[in-house]
Amino acid sequence: MTPNPNESSLEEFHLQVKRPVVSEKPEKIEIVYVNVFIYSAYHIFALYGLYLSFTSVKWPTIILGIILWTLSILGTTMGSHRLWSHRAYKANLPLQIFLMICTSIACQLTSYNWVRDHRMHHKYSDTNADPHNAKRGFFFSHMGWLLIKKHTEMKRLGNTIYMDDVHSNPVLMFQKKYAIPFMGSLCFIIPVLIPIYFWNESFVNAWNFNILRFILGVHSICSINSFAHLFGTRPYDENIMPVENIGVSLVTLGEGFHNYHHSFPWDYKAGELGNNWLNFSTATIDFFAKLGWAYDLKTASDAVVEARIKRTGDGTYKREDIKESDRGKKQKNIGL
Ligand SMILES: [Zn+2]
Ligand SMILES: [Zn+2]
Repeated sequence: MTPNPNESSLEEFHLQVKRPVVSEKPEKIEIVYVNVFIYSAYHIFALYGLYLSFTSVKWPTIILGIILWTLSILGTTMGSHRLWSHRAYKANLPLQIFLMICTSIACQLTSYNWVRDHRMHHKYSDTNADPHNAKRGFFFSHMGWLLIKKHTEMKRLGNTIYMDDVHSNPVLMFQKKYAIPFMGSLCFIIPVLIPIYFWNESFVNAWNFNILRFILGVHSICSINSFAHLFGTRPYDENIMPVENIGVSLVTLGEGFHNYHHSFPWDYKAGELGNNWLNFSTATIDFFAKLGWAYDLKTASDAVVEARIKRTGDGTYKREDIKESDRGKKQKNIGL
């Protein structure tokens, strides 16, 4: 019987469909020079923006940058990641539109491409079919993967990823269709015009500081693929590369509990520490759940988590050290 991805969780669906063998053969690196040029330019603008922020950027511009950084990270973690890639909860139309606007402010790929890459990342973690395979080293998994041609294994296996739900989502397809004008305006034009128009910021300050805000958002999210796959502990599963890394949680508003996340990808908290200040994304989903805008939140039960720790953990987990209040609510328990 063909499994129906609409009835089971996405990961259960992928588990039921046999995973093709991925070749581990290394490939010649082909640099995409246009991307190298663009990312180099971003970093030069951002460094200048950092210098200007200590000398002449006005306070309202800095506050606006912090707000936009926060929205762009929330869009990526709550929207592209937990909602659209993993379907760890459901969201009504206004919340989906809000999150799509946030991912447009972030401008880190369209959410369509983000979901496709991220489903590849989970299905083929740390193999040649994973877009940011951490076995290829820190730089590759952090940002190098954006600067070279995709591995042929990624191209070969790209069509093994379920994307029908994304294709039928009008919010995501709108963003994909109008990516350049829509995302370009929300990420690079409006955030520059606001400070110039409302508080007489100079163009040079507004432009460079906004690029700093943008590139810090890119590095925050990229740190999940590099730091959170290389440096930390594996209390839930020692057989996989992803780790628990508090620093990554700080700069991504809650995505550093990555060993937990790869062990229970359908958990909307993306970490066992559900409701504390290290997981602002979860707190924000909980807030929208109270409004009724987010619903059907999935989490792993304590029993399931404990069994997994005993079965595959690396022995670093100290359950008694974790306060019950930090674990978050268990709206809906599903087992593996
Ligand atoms: Zn990962
Ligand atoms: Zn994920």
